[in-house]
Amino acid sequence: MFSRLDHPPVSYEDYRPLLDPKLADELAAIAGEMGQLRVLHLNSTATGGGVAEILQSLVPLGNSLGIETERIVIYPDSAEFFRVTKKIHNLLQGAEGSLSPEELDIYFGCLQTVADDMRAKGLSADVWFVHDPQLLPLARMLPKKEGETWIWICHIDLTTPNRSVLDALMPLIEDYDQVIFSQTDYVPEGLADKVPVLIAPPAIDPLSVKNTPMDLPQAQKVVRAMGIDTDRPLITQVSRFDLWKDPWGVIDAYRIARESVPGLQLALLGLSQATDDPEALGVLKTVAELAGGDPDIHMYFDPSEMPVSVDEVVNAIQVASQVLIQKSTREGFGLTVTEGMWKGKPVIGGDAGGIRVQIDDGVSGFLVSSPEQCAERLVELLQDEALSARIGEAAKESVRRLFLLPRLALDYLSIARVHVNGRIPAVSGD
Ligand code: UDP
Repeated sequence: MFSRLDHPPVSYEDYRPLLDPKLADELAAIAGEMGQLRVLHLNSTATGGGVAEILQSLVPLGNSLGIETERIVIYPDSAEFFRVTKKIHNLLQGAEGSLSPEELDIYFGCLQTVADDMRAKGLSADVWFVHDPQLLPLARMLPKKEGETWIWICHIDLTTPNRSVLDALMPLIEDYDQVIFSQTDYVPEGLADKVPVLIAPPAIDPLSVKNTPMDLPQAQKVVRAMGIDTDRPLITQVSRFDLWKDPWGVIDAYRIARESVPGLQLALLGLSQATDDPEALGVLKTVAELAGGDPDIHMYFDPSEMPVSVDEVVNAIQVASQVLIQKSTREGFGLTVTEGMWKGKPVIGGDAGGIRVQIDDGVSGFLVSSPEQCAERLVELLQDEALSARIGEAAKESVRRLFLLPRLALDYLSIARVHVNGRIPAVSGD
């Protein structure tokens, strides 16, 4: 029903040189104050997707700061659970449709079994961080014990949610002591009157295999082994094969740009399909049809065919590409954007959700709303090395200041401390 995941240990001292000293000291001080607490992070998938990515680094970072931090992943006993939670995810991000009473029964029934198992096994903590809608009802199902703090973290874009689904879920949000959203506009209207809200955008781990510095020859060796010609320009989108990531628009943009940049190659890297994403294969099929056998469109879906680990492949392809694309039409945050910017690359992002928060258009990247605009920016960047270098440098500095993991750890621990100390603000952050 659930399991504890172990992640390799890290040392906080290795992060310090990358951080502003004020932030580094503040984080160490708060951790020192909270050293007696036990913290749990719970989510619904061990690997795949941005939340799993953050947690596999955040949990060891918490431990290296001296706070006993555990990671719990739930395993509901029905595959139907993930079909329903994927539907809830899509509806909350604005898709058409509704949930049937049977689907709601599956959602609540599976989670109740997980909650019963947690209770039977005596799972406990001082601070519970529950991530995303998949697990939202847990606070109701595992009623809070004296002294516990329950925090729900919503990583998705609720700007235009399906009203009926949001209305069904709102009372469950109010069961928490605190909620955290990654952007102000994602907070549903009226919610901040009922439960304290913090805005805390996600972050990347600069010490992970995926984000640690890799030199260009090494990166090129990896992508050559993947069939890419490193003597010709390469553009890449690193993303699950997902409706909202608009892989079709990326292919359209590549085709237009290729008319001005002969020999251009496109890579679509979707190796980390989340186990709760049954739609992926259908999307992959239509994308492959659109690619239509073009030998310069490289699609990667199967990690077992890669020359090195998935994380190394992501690092290498981001380093070896001239321009990175994240053409999402909806995006909670978009860690791939941060990852690309951290490598000093120009990123062209869809003008949506969290991508807007990361890219200062024309300064640290470009925002686009159509394949045509995307193609125009691609050509500009591919033909002007100085522009690419300037944008890439601004991108990296912006990530260093705003989107590295210790800043997120500080946000989470600071708000947990407020509750542990019994002082609760109405709305904070941003
Ligand atoms: N990712 C990966 N391999 C892939 C595709 C994606 O490891 O082939 C990672 C990517 O590097 C990023 C995460 O999966 O860290 C995706 O997070 P993001 O916020 O961009 O999107 P999500 O999948 O959560 O919607």
